[in-house]
Amino acid sequence: MNRACGVPCRTSYISSTFSWEPLTGADDARCYEAAERAHPIASIAVEATHDVLVVGAGCAGMRAAIEAFDQGADVALLSKIHPVRSHSGAAEGGINAALGNASEDDPEKHAFDTVKGSDYLGDQDAIQVLCDEAPDDVYQLEHWGAVFSRTEDGRIAQRPFGAAGEPRTAYAADITGHVLVHVLYEQVMKRDIFTYEEYFAWKLVIDDDRCQGVIAWDLLNGGLKTIGAKTVILATGGAGRLYTGTTNAYACTGDGMAMALRVGVALEDMEMMQFHPTTLAPSGVLITEGCRGEGAYLLNSEGERFLERYAPNAMELASRDVISRAEQTEIDEGRGINGNVLLDLRHLGAEKIHERLHGTRELSMVFAGVDPIHEPIPVRPGSHYHMGGVATDLDGLTSITGLYAAGECACVSVHGANRLGGNALMETITFGKRSGAAAAEWALTHTTVAVPPSIEADAERELGALLGRSDGERPWAIRDELAATMHENFGVFRREEQMQEQGRIIERLQERYERVVVEDKGDVFNTDLTQALELGFLLELAECMVVAGLARRESRGAHARPYDYPERDDANFLRHTLTSLSPSGRVRLDWKPVTITKWQPQERTY
Ligand SMILES: Cc1cc2nc3c(=O)[nH]c(=O)nc-3n(C[C@H](O)[C@H](O)[C@H](O)COP(=O)(O)OP(=O)(O)OC[C@H]3O[C@@H](n4cnc5c(N)ncnc54)[C@H](O)[C@@H]3O)c2cc1C
Repeated sequence: MNRACGVPCRTSYISSTFSWEPLTGADDARCYEAAERAHPIASIAVEATHDVLVVGAGCAGMRAAIEAFDQGADVALLSKIHPVRSHSGAAEGGINAALGNASEDDPEKHAFDTVKGSDYLGDQDAIQVLCDEAPDDVYQLEHWGAVFSRTEDGRIAQRPFGAAGEPRTAYAADITGHVLVHVLYEQVMKRDIFTYEEYFAWKLVIDDDRCQGVIAWDLLNGGLKTIGAKTVILATGGAGRLYTGTTNAYACTGDGMAMALRVGVALEDMEMMQFHPTTLAPSGVLITEGCRGEGAYLLNSEGERFLERYAPNAMELASRDVISRAEQTEIDEGRGINGNVLLDLRHLGAEKIHERLHGTRELSMVFAGVDPIHEPIPVRPGSHYHMGGVATDLDGLTSITGLYAAGECACVSVHGANRLGGNALMETITFGKRSGAAAAEWALTHTTVAVPPSIEADAERELGALLGRSDGERPWAIRDELAATMHENFGVFRREEQMQEQGRIIERLQERYERVVVEDKGDVFNTDLTQALELGFLLELAECMVVAGLARRESRGAHARPYDYPERDDANFLRHTLTSLSPSGRVRLDWKPVTITKWQPQERTY
């Protein structure tokens, strides 16, 4: 942005040495000339510097930016897609806060359900923060204009969700994420927070042991751009695209996690990928847990409500890991229907389906050709949510000064080995807010930003080598093989030999990736290039997952090893995995204790 005239400007001030000065009118002309001359890799342009640069503009990123702005910081958002197209907008079922509008509820009960749901791997201090701050954070969203569904007497309605002891999930029909994304974007616009729209963040700038900005590819105009910042908040979402069958959008490639990994930050609990029990085959489109919250049944090929055998008390409202395993067992033992089980909503009646599950009906009709008013929906487990991510403290701070993370890309950790439905949106809001506040506070008490030219030159060289290659393998074949084999070898159930085989497959794919060729050499919306970069991120994350998965020799939450280690083993594994890159570039493993405050581990039954 040209701060002198205040007009958002996508062109840039090309500079060989980095220092921030306000631009003048004359600089404007230089901006445009320079942009016209720009070659995709020949020039790195310094856009601007900010106190706080938030990478990612989903619920976590926008909430962080709003909070940092309100604390007085100069803030910018940067996103590879338009903020309202962020994947948060796909969230359907709702957001958890102990408002007590549908039953006697309080944050303590919410915290216990979350601790138990996490299979005791969640850090209890973080969970307490989430559950204590959730009610006020939801009312804040309401006051900003979030149109939550209502009770008869006008309060925010709350529906039951899996493994929640009380009906605690506030919702806006089945488009909760869509509503929140738009409300947050309105607040971003109201504050005039500058957004680098369609910029692909590729590298973190680390200098003097501090994070001092980001090097990004400008998707619209081409070219690498450096944006300096006293603090950077990663809010880049999940990595569901590691799998063939996933509820996640094409943008969910774990970029922020991998960027942090590459600068030495550890990733926590990466083996914990959640499989959602109700996804449509083959697209992976999500059918919300809200259906089961409203009373839908799961049936096998014999018409049985098979959960009677797996979770006799909670039935369809058991936690996601329990239901996904039950479904997979039914399918594996021959009681599925073409690799699916059935989700039956028919008894809910047309009126309720129209009123509360309208989006679900539409998705089922469009993507499966099934109208749930008249027929059950075929569903199966699909990769959905990464409980693991960038290790942070309670304010989103990572092990590097100036670098924060929030939302799905972070692991604070409130979800442990299994996330409860409705807690992810809440995490984006509460921990987005906290990281925004903490980053602003740090930035406002520190003054300088420095990006040594050598960092930019290295980035130019690396990208130049990739774009300069004319022979080699296309990225998509590697990406498809990675996703298919992760599904096969690191899915709902995990076996030692399969995980080892997956480790070898990833190694071979990484070797092939070294010779990957980007055919599109152009500047404008070069998705060939960005998809190749995303694939590099995914491969590194997959390696972390397999290393952590092999090391966790127990069954806990999403990490189920029924064939060799069927039980949870608190004596040896009540601890987090930490994966980081060793100097040789291979993944190394460490462990970190779980924070237990008041809930000692118990047997987990539903
Ligand atoms: C279909 C579906 C339904 C869900 N329903 C619910 C629900 O009902 N309740 C609930 O609690 N949770 C739900 N979840 C989970 C929850 O929605 C997500 O975990 C949460 O919204 C993630 O928010 P986020 O802000 O962390 O990331 P996202 O919303 O994914 O945003 C990531 C942002 O980062 C940007 N980005 C990524 N990489 C880069 C890069 N390299 N450079 C620049 N920008 C980048 C993207 O452009 C985007 O703006 C659901 C998830 C799915 C997939």
